[in-house]
Amino acid sequence: MNEIDWKSLSFGYMKTDFNVRSYYRDGKWSELEVSSSEMINLHIAATCLHYGQEAFEGLKAFKGKDGKIRVFRMEENALRLQRSCEGILMAPLPVEKFNEAVITVIRQNMRFVPPYESGSSLYIRPLLIGTSPQIGVHAASEYLFMVLVTPVGPYFKEGFKTTPVVILRAYDRAAPLGTGTYKVGGNYAASLVAGEKAHQLGYSAVLYLDAKEKRYVDECGPANFFGIRDNTYITPASTSILPSITNKSLTQLAESIGMKVERRQIAVEELATFEEAGMCGTAAVISPILRIDDLDKNISYHYAKDGAPGKTCVKLYNMLRAIQYGEAPDRFGWVTVIDE
Ligand SMILES: *Cc1c(COP(=O)(O)O)cnc(C)c1O
Repeated sequence: MNEIDWKSLSFGYMKTDFNVRSYYRDGKWSELEVSSSEMINLHIAATCLHYGQEAFEGLKAFKGKDGKIRVFRMEENALRLQRSCEGILMAPLPVEKFNEAVITVIRQNMRFVPPYESGSSLYIRPLLIGTSPQIGVHAASEYLFMVLVTPVGPYFKEGFKTTPVVILRAYDRAAPLGTGTYKVGGNYAASLVAGEKAHQLGYSAVLYLDAKEKRYVDECGPANFFGIRDNTYITPASTSILPSITNKSLTQLAESIGMKVERRQIAVEELATFEEAGMCGTAAVISPILRIDDLDKNISYHYAKDGAPGKTCVKLYNMLRAIQYGEAPDRFGWVTVIDE
């Protein structure tokens, strides 16, 4: 095998040695299978292809300075996948099966876990799809759960940095009582046009407003939103956002350093009052926001003096990363150490 250049990794797909699979048939999940094939054999009328019965997860494993591999909040991801399955009428996967699959796929691909010094990590992608044929609109009776891994580079190659985001009222990502709260591919398909437009205009993401009234902040395409003001961490409560595990972790860390946490509706005008703002998710932990341009109203909200991330963003980011890499004690029980 060619040596991997850990420093030049991006957030892309690289073939690894193995993936794991479990099949749901006759009302039960099979034993895990380890496969070296990157392909699956799928019925042309599978419900995942026609009616979007597909949910996924995203989590990471990190090699620490001590050489140990740590998976971040595996159980939370397992529970969220169960919710997503219930949300689009798929057979939910037992938490134990999820955990076993994640641990197995890491053990089978140890040589792809990037070294500590690289700042890279092993991205873990669980996926659950409806596989049996349907032409009428019904849920499948058979499902496939699989987990693939791929090494990914540090999100911030040139260091922690701010980017601009944009409000585009002409687009919605999810309906108030729709599937926004589930981690399903359909939400991502629905966000591609607006996301592409934002990128063309030079923004890193779209900040979506609530679809019904366009009065409240929802979330960014693939990341939750938060603002910081008066030692308070403020993040939207909404029925159409995906409950980010990073966001949940950041609220706990914020409380642990004496900050207040508010989870409530955030009116668009309140954006003017924040000292700092950020997006959060597994990919970047925190992606601090430079500026939000509300193009329809011709208003800009500025957060970063000289383009530098705010001090609270930096602090919370460093705290979370330290737990992931085993540099700080795992006080909250977030980490699973993989024995070699
Ligand atoms: C996955 C995801 C997030 C981030 O969730 P994490 O658990 O923090 O990775 C945020 N928003 C959407 C829409 C997502 O799909």
